[in-house]
Amino acid sequence: METVKQPTQSLVEKDLQNVWHHISAYNEKSQPMIVDRGEGAWIIDHNGNKYLDGMSGLWAVNVGYGREELAQVAYDQMKKLAYVPMTQSHEPAIELAAKLNDMLGGDYMFFYSNSGSDANEVAFKIARQYHQQNGEGARFKFISRYRAYHGSSMGALSATGQAIRKYKYEPLSHGFLHVAPPDNYRRPKGQSIKEYNLQRAQELEDKIIWEQKETIAGIIMEPLITGGGILIPHPVYLEKVQEICNKHGVLLIIDEVICGFGRTGKAFGHQHFNLKPDIITMAKGLTSAYLPLSVTAVRKEIYEKFNTGEENSHLRHLNTFGGNPAACAVALKNIEIMERENLFERSAELGDRLQKELKELSNHPYVGDIRGLGFLLGIEMVEDKITMEPASNERVLKIVSDCKGNGLIIGKNGDTVAGYNNILTISPPLSCTDEDLEFMIAVLKKVFKENE
Ligand code: PMP
Repeated sequence: METVKQPTQSLVEKDLQNVWHHISAYNEKSQPMIVDRGEGAWIIDHNGNKYLDGMSGLWAVNVGYGREELAQVAYDQMKKLAYVPMTQSHEPAIELAAKLNDMLGGDYMFFYSNSGSDANEVAFKIARQYHQQNGEGARFKFISRYRAYHGSSMGALSATGQAIRKYKYEPLSHGFLHVAPPDNYRRPKGQSIKEYNLQRAQELEDKIIWEQKETIAGIIMEPLITGGGILIPHPVYLEKVQEICNKHGVLLIIDEVICGFGRTGKAFGHQHFNLKPDIITMAKGLTSAYLPLSVTAVRKEIYEKFNTGEENSHLRHLNTFGGNPAACAVALKNIEIMERENLFERSAELGDRLQKELKELSNHPYVGDIRGLGFLLGIEMVEDKITMEPASNERVLKIVSDCKGNGLIIGKNGDTVAGYNNILTISPPLSCTDEDLEFMIAVLKKVFKENE
């Protein structure tokens, strides 16, 4: 720990009087952490306390903090040309789209926006308009999964499957339906994981049929549910979903907002499976959150329906800031860093090591399940290993808070309404050093030991 600076109480007071925080509520007793700077995988608060950021902010800072190269490209680009609306074009946007196409095996066109929510909104609008212009105007509904998070704007929130985030803002957008995701840990006793995943996929197909398949525009899912509690499907699930989409003319939209850019140990999460998504949305790790940028990647075959030359067939969607030149330049450099430092492979390696080291926690009385893919880990806490009753909020929060007390930030995720808000999440920068990993493991082991 560094020496404590002069307490800047006035900054906390100013914050409490002026800043409306996301999701959190603070008061005199519970105060926000004011972060002063970041170095590698670490953040340092205004009192000089250092924390390993085991959540990469909001699952986003994949290359870690303090990358001068990223600051430099943003500076250079802003000086040269700060802004171009994407009704026109510019070199960083062109180069970035070409680079993303290389990473995806070609065949996509890229629409720029500012956030993951934006990227999903664009996906929904493209899907609906595509079907209209393809002679199937009745296709307007989307199916997503309970427990999934797809964003905060009205459409993206409608696709989100966590009722606690939605019910005070309803009515939301019309035509968003949900099915249950595979939650392998909680599958019926005696059923194999494969069988169970196939059954969940069959429920999705039943939904499409019962809703009248000619009304279904698209299915949106993450390769694995992240914010809803790290629910990793068996490969047969997503491959069956792809088959169902093809069979019923439904577009497959894959939300790579968290899973993209190495988080799961490959460039994109869907690359673990045999999938060819029609639309892919990305944000967060695209720039490692150094600047806001998101992308909706759309198969060229779909794009062609918007580029027919017919009047009013183009996409009636624009946003002022999407494709900002500095943000695109940062994204390109960010991807270059990831490739140069082999961070996708490193993510897989660090994740494997973390899971192996934490295996012993399976014997902990309150640990029900440990699961992960790449440098993305979930620890599901229970009150009782036999009944699998979810651990109380207090018990889970105590682990989060004790980790923080020992200099490690981890997350708590799941779905309150589903009754599962009991999953600890760990999603650190992919650039963690071996020492960072060892620190993380040591803190987790210590904290769990103290909470037996
Ligand atoms: N999709 C997923 C899977 C996400 O996790 C998030 C954000 N956590 C979003 C979409 C929305 O992204 P944003 O917060 O940038 O709007």
